[in-house]
Amino acid sequence: AGAGAAAGAGANAEFAARAARLIPGGVNSPVRAFGSVGGTPRFFVSGSGATVTDADGREYVDLVGAWGPALLGHAHPAVVEAVQQAAARGLGFGASVPGEYELAEEIIARMPEVDLVRLVSTGTEATMTAIRVARGATGRPLIIKFAGHYHGHSDGLLAAAGSGLATFGLPGSAGVTAETAGQTLVLPYNNLAALEHAFETHPGEIAAVITESAAANMGILPPDPGFTEGLIRLAHAHGALVITDEVLTGFRASASGYWGIEREGMPDGLQPDLFTFGKVVGGGLPLAALGGRRDLMEQLAPLGPVYQGGTLSGNPLAVAAGLATLRNADDAVYERLAAAADALAVELDDALTAAGVAHRVQRAGTLLSVLFGDYPVAPATYDDVLGQDTAKHRAFFHSMLEAGVNLPPSAFEAWFVSAAHDDRVIGRIAGALPAAARAAAAA
Ligand code: PMP
Repeated sequence: AGAGAAAGAGANAEFAARAARLIPGGVNSPVRAFGSVGGTPRFFVSGSGATVTDADGREYVDLVGAWGPALLGHAHPAVVEAVQQAAARGLGFGASVPGEYELAEEIIARMPEVDLVRLVSTGTEATMTAIRVARGATGRPLIIKFAGHYHGHSDGLLAAAGSGLATFGLPGSAGVTAETAGQTLVLPYNNLAALEHAFETHPGEIAAVITESAAANMGILPPDPGFTEGLIRLAHAHGALVITDEVLTGFRASASGYWGIEREGMPDGLQPDLFTFGKVVGGGLPLAALGGRRDLMEQLAPLGPVYQGGTLSGNPLAVAAGLATLRNADDAVYERLAAAADALAVELDDALTAAGVAHRVQRAGTLLSVLFGDYPVAPATYDDVLGQDTAKHRAFFHSMLEAGVNLPPSAFEAWFVSAAHDDRVIGRIAGALPAAARAAAAA
């Protein structure tokens, strides 16, 4: 902590103190507060490619990637230019712009299961709306979610929600009524027996199962083989819908998300009903989406009785950023992401093994994360990962930060590489790993 405090003693510390007087906890989203790692959060003033620069002028290799959107790297010239051109044409009109259907086309081209797309501004809105559509279409009240899955901060989805709640050790959120919380059944992930039992206990009452296509907000926990297929079969057998949340994984885990990886192995016609997207689809600006089967999406106003709307929905700058990102995310980009994630996983594993730190590197497509703890078999549930050694993560995190590598400030978050993470960048990260692994060993 000494080194961390010293390095943060300049502009970062001053800005953090000023922000803390004006903004709750000094942050506008809790995980930014360094709550579980301690020390001074960095204020970033610029980013380019694989690096970000803090308020003290210090450059870091970045593995946060704006929590996902920065697929092409920070300030990619094509994205910046598209946004600048859109801005010059006007910041928004509260009416449709051509980029909205162009972005819908891009999404549908990568996701053949999606017939219609509705653009919103945040992942929270996307999942909230998908659930409203599911309830509207089925006329049923209850939702199933899995412990450790994060679907944004709408009231009904905050129980056992991973992400910031895991970081801060919260079971759920105050301010959610018992009635609302009672309409969400929280089940263990990767457990089809528990799912079947829930359907049998609540016949005709469950509108939808919402699931991250691969859990990525409690560290990375991909679905066990057969879990996704079993989940879809069970839900459909009981007249419930499946909402696959690809906000984090979409257009990142692979060109068509984590479902895109699982799709290949599925029997014909077996697929989720609704999908949610965010992060990459907005290219770094506030944009997210939901999409899926035509008859379900047609439930939305103005065609149907399920209401949803937004002053900023389909904002032309956000649409331009998303379009430029997806149009530039070609096969070479995904190959680079995969190569970077593979190389990093090996370096990480080697460094922690050499230092004698019990760990497990987790993967889902191009996403990775590391669990600090003894995991002889792959963890499958939230309970499996909640007990990890956060003191080791903390020591590891600060050693990396001091060496100029910006990792997620939580043991429960995914690491994000970008197309700008070339071999040289991976080499810089690799150079910092042995000392960080030794710091973890000593913690
Ligand atoms: N779903 C998933 C899987 C997410 O990872 C997130 C955000 N990390 C959300 C939904 C919520 O998105 P937003 O923060 O844009 O509201």
